[in-house]
Formats: sequence, C-alpha cells, structure tokens
Amino acid sequence: MSTTYNICLLPGDGIGPEIIAEGVKVLNAVGAKYDTTFTYTEALIGGCAIDATGNPLPQETLDAAQASDAVLLAAVGGPKWDSTDSSKPRPEQGLLGIRKALGLYTNLRPVQIFEALADASTLKPEVVAGTDVMIVRELTGGLYFGERHRYYNEEGAGTDGAPGQRAVDTLVYSEYEVERIARQAFEIARKRNNKVTSVDKANVLDTSRMWREVVHRIGAEEYPDVELNDMLVDNTAMQLVNWPKQFDVIVTENMFGDILSDEASMISGSLGMLASASLGDGVALYEPSHGSAPDIAGLGIANPLAQILSVEMMLRYSFGMGEAADDIKRAVTKVLDEGWRTGDIKQATTPAEKLVGTTRMGDLVVAAL
Ligand code: NAD
Repeated sequence: MSTTYNICLLPGDGIGPEIIAEGVKVLNAVGAKYDTTFTYTEALIGGCAIDATGNPLPQETLDAAQASDAVLLAAVGGPKWDSTDSSKPRPEQGLLGIRKALGLYTNLRPVQIFEALADASTLKPEVVAGTDVMIVRELTGGLYFGERHRYYNEEGAGTDGAPGQRAVDTLVYSEYEVERIARQAFEIARKRNNKVTSVDKANVLDTSRMWREVVHRIGAEEYPDVELNDMLVDNTAMQLVNWPKQFDVIVTENMFGDILSDEASMISGSLGMLASASLGDGVALYEPSHGSAPDIAGLGIANPLAQILSVEMMLRYSFGMGEAADDIKRAVTKVLDEGWRTGDIKQATTPAEKLVGTTRMGDLVVAAL
C-alpha cells in the first residue's frame, strides 16, 4: 500500500511561491516513482501573512505545521515590510517563531560541490572538488540564548579599567542539550561517511570542555562505530578553506556553527544551490539558505535548485527515503553536467540556449529523475 505524507507548504514572499512550486513538482515525481503519496497544506508566513492577518505567524499556520509530517518553506521578507519601527511586525519573526514552536534545536547545512560549478568557488578547483560536508549547528542554546545585559560601571575598580558602559553575554549549555545534538550528529554521520568532528574552544571555555566530554561519552557508549575527533574552532575556520575534504560531519555550538556554516557556504560559491534543514524531535523544517530575492521576484528567473535540494533533505531526514534523495541529487548533477544554468549560476562558457528560467529548471530535474 502506498505511504502518504502530508507536507505543510510555506511559500512566503518574493521568489518563494515560484521556487516552492518546483519543489512540489519534484516531490510529486518522486512520489510516483516510489509509490508514495504527498499531500499538501499551504499556509501563510512572513510578509504575506502580515498583509493578510497582521501576524507573521498566524495560529492557523502553526497548527498546519504541527499537524504535518514535515514543513517545506521557501523564504520570507522584502522591502515592503522593512521598518525601523520596532513595534511593527517583521517577516523574520515568523521564521524564528516557527523554529521555536517546533523545538528545532538542530540546524543542518550541507556544503557539497557540484563538479560542473566548481569554478564558481573563489577557492582553487582542486581544493573544493569532492567536498561534501554537513555542518550540524546547535540552534536553541549557547551564546545566542544566554542572559545578556548592559550596565554602567561608575567605579572602574581594579583591572576593570575606566568608568563606562559594560555589556555581558553568557554562554550556557546543559549536558542534556549537548547530548541530544551529539546524537543527531552521530546519527547523520551513520547515514554518510561515519565521521564526526566536534568543534569547540576547549582550551579556553568551560562550556567547550563539558561539550567535549559529553560528545565523547555519547560517542563511546552509543556510537562506537563512528569515528570522532575534536578540533578547535579557530583551526576549523582555517581547515575549511585549506582542505574541506577532510570533513564529513561537523557538530558545534550555536555561534560557532553560525559563523562556520556561512564560511563553508562560500566553498560552493553559489547561494542558489544551498539547502538547509532544521530538526527537533518532531516535525522538521526544510528551506533554502538564501532569502526571498525581492529584486528578481515574479520574473521567473530564480534558481529553484536550493529548494529542490531541501526536498532532497526532507526525503532523507524526515521520511527515511535515502534512495529517492540520492535520485534527486543525481538528477540535479545530471542537469548541471548537461550545462543547464539559471542566471545566478551562469558561467562565461554558458551558451544562451542553456540559460533557463525557474520552471524549465524544475522540468529538467523532473525529466532527469
Ligand atoms: P537574498 O538571499 O534574498 O538575495 C541575495 C542575492 O542573491 C540577490 O541578488 C538575489 O537576487 C540572489 N538570489 C538569492 N536567491 C536566489 C535564487 N534562488 N536564484 C537566483 N538568485 C538568487 O538576500 P537579501 O537580498 O539579503 O535579502 C532579501 C530578503 O530576504 C530580505 O527581506 C531578508 O530579510 C530576507 N531573507 C530571508 C531569509 C529566509 O527566509 N530564510 C534568509 C535571508 C534573507
């Protein structure tokens, strides 16, 4: 009997509706091939939700997401809703709100090189060729969620220096938070090349020393088959651009992960190709790494591949459909190898007849499937 999955679709703003349509096209093609039915519930998030309801994350949207098997999001935001008035609702509040409501404590950012686009990177082709890294970032703890405050120091006592403002941020992790992100990283490594690099700053920070202990304990007790090594965050920043192929899965604290995943995204050189996933213990959310590209919205020229690759991640991580996910990756690789390009990934050697729009690119991937 055919399996059925319900997917909550959140097209959002800008190019969102255009690219999500291509993601759905690919899902339907995969469904037909693998005897799986995908049903869809569409809901509002971001700017379009503000226009319709005054709220970037209406309760109806949250209910639809929570009742689904997975959420596919495109992007939110645009100049129409930009405002310096902090009392006005902002599209990104929809994103932060849904991540929080779904308890998404793991962010996955894959960095993979499609050989046909290797020259888009600012790094040498021999350095980037064959790179396939998954950055597992802790998303709901650490420095970004610790207590923070500012105060005025009247005295400037001792080594504290002169009187003036002081600002404090705190980096807190519980053992439990580290355990659960470590497990996610080890599980993902088992689906890939069985190697985890745990990144910390254990030569300075106590949270890092605990992080390291906990990751090693979980590794030894539950994942003895997965290779584990540690790396300091500053060295990791260097190694990512020096020899990215040495990594399989990188697991790290929230802020370290934020910085390293942006650094790593540039290894591939093309924003329109990068997908991401946010996982918790229930419904997960999949989206491209790029924004809503308001400058090209409605023109039919947006690159749908990051959205399509987020569908690939959904199949792999929410539905255990690894083979179907591999199919999508192979299809995208084939389309690129054949020379098809959207404007954002166009190369000097791309002939005019190989330059395609959003819908055509989606059709090509479906045909390759
Ligand atoms: P952006 O990623 O939307 O666009 C940056 C540049 O890349 C633009 O020139 C755009 O045309 C291009 N681009 C991005 N995606 C593309 C694609 N799929 N195909 C072809 N070209 C693509 O970033 P921005 O311009 O800084 O932000 C625009 C809006 O998106 C803002 O409102 C911002 O807040 C929002 N944003 C949303 C998310 C999200 O929803 N997760 C992430 C980042 C930015």
